[in-house]
Parts: sequence; C-alpha cells; structure tokens
Amino acid sequence: MGQTNSSIHIEQRQNVKHAAVQASRSEIYEGPLVLVNRSNPIQQPLSPDKLQPLSIYPLLNELQDGMLLEKSCLQQLVALLEACEGIDDIVAVSGYRSKDEQEQIYASSLLENGPEYTACYVAKPGQSEHQTGLAIDVGKRDSFVDFIAPSFPDNGVYQNFKQLAAQYGFIQRYKQGKESITNISCEPWHFRYVGFPHAEIMEEMDFCLEEYIDWIRRYSYSGERFTYENDTLQVSIYYVPAEAAPSTTVPIVNCDLYRISGNNSDGFIISAYTGKGHQVCE
Ligand SMILES: [Zn+2]
Repeated sequence: MGQTNSSIHIEQRQNVKHAAVQASRSEIYEGPLVLVNRSNPIQQPLSPDKLQPLSIYPLLNELQDGMLLEKSCLQQLVALLEACEGIDDIVAVSGYRSKDEQEQIYASSLLENGPEYTACYVAKPGQSEHQTGLAIDVGKRDSFVDFIAPSFPDNGVYQNFKQLAAQYGFIQRYKQGKESITNISCEPWHFRYVGFPHAEIMEEMDFCLEEYIDWIRRYSYSGERFTYENDTLQVSIYYVPAEAAPSTTVPIVNCDLYRISGNNSDGFIISAYTGKGHQVCE
C-alpha cells in the first residue's frame, strides 16, 4: 500500500477464515488498548522483551539516556517525528517507567510540588500509563525541560506532531474537557500509543480512552461490528468478553490479518484488517 502510516502491513497475510484462537487470562492485561487509570491499575508488569531502547535510533533526542518504549510504540514514534519534521526540535522526556521509578517520581513530586499539583499530573504507582511502555512525554527541546510538565507549544513542528499523531496510532491522552473522566489535568505533552486505526476513530469521535473502551463493548463478533475503512483497507473491530475459565475462545472474522488486545479489565478487542484489491502490498 505504498507509504504507510500504520504499522499494519497486509503482506503479512494470515488469511483467516472463521477461525478462533485461545486467549489466556494474562492477555487481558496486554496490548495497545489496555486502559490504565485509577480504577484500572496495572495488573502485571510488562515483559522486558517487549521494550526497546530509544538509543537504537541515534537521531532521537532523549532527556535522559537509557529510555525505553514498547517496540511498536517506539517505531511509530520515530515515524511520526520524521513525518512532522520534529526530530531535531522535539525531545523524548519520559517513556517506560518501572513501578519503582513511578514510586520515586511520585514521591519526589509530592516533596517538590505538593499534593495538589501531584494529584493533577502524576499518577500513583501502579496507575501510570508509563508502566505500559505505550506512553511518551514529549517536549520542546530547550536548555531547560520540565520533567513533569514539559512545554509542548501549539505551533510549528509541535503542532504538526499533534495533527499527525492519530495517523501514526497516537492520541493526546489527557485532553481539556475530559478531566472528569480521566481524573488527570490536560497534558499537551503526554501521548499514548493505541495503534491503527483506533487513534483515528477516537479523534474523529472525540473520545478519550475511557470512553472508547466503553463504547467498543457494544460491538461483538455475532452482533454488529464496527467498521473502519480507508482507501486501502477495511477494519472490523469488536469486543469479546473474557470467560471465567483460564482461557477464552476468541472468534476471528474472515480477514487478512488480525490483532488482539486486552482492555486491562474484562475482555479483548479484536481488530481484523482486510486489504482492498490486489495493490495492498507495500
Ligand atoms: Zn506522561
């Protein structure tokens, strides 16, 4: 499909025909659509083999050496930074954090900024999206960059980054007007990787992640499925509740390629991709 924004390449055809796969309970807590917040804390630490150091892309600017992100998130971040021409001017401020690191950040923010500010901008240990490896704080590259609340202006390459983010699978996670749902103040610098085409659907429908995960429950394998379509492919999206058993039978619609993500609470979201025509390969 020529130059692609999404990480979906249909040449990896799986040719699925009315298949079903088994998903274990632990898979509820994994994948790009996990919802992490006060009500849905992290259930299991991310396996280290899912992470990659930002240093494998030497052009990327990191605030501190040794930053890590989940592999697809990192790959798409680099593609987005290149597309918005912000690779020189945007600095990666904070990516993956272990629970210990989140504890330290929370404790030092309490000391330096006080409880009110900390409650607005810093998630409690176990409730931070940064522990998923799917969240990245970005800032304007400058002589001083605030670690908790970096500056991310509304013009130039920063604005380009915001405008192109959804095409690369990222959402601005904490938006103005959604504070009563997210319980976090507006954070122009915090982006969350949810993958293609979920970020675009959320943006189009003005959903924050809490709203999207809740909304998607109305779509099911045997009932109505949500369909996203662009010039090159069609995506069927539906929810499969987890069974009480140790594993759940997840039905997969006919497609070329599918992805399963847990929602971090009670089930799975299936994205089934089908290319249009024969010109779908890269
Ligand atoms: Zn953040």
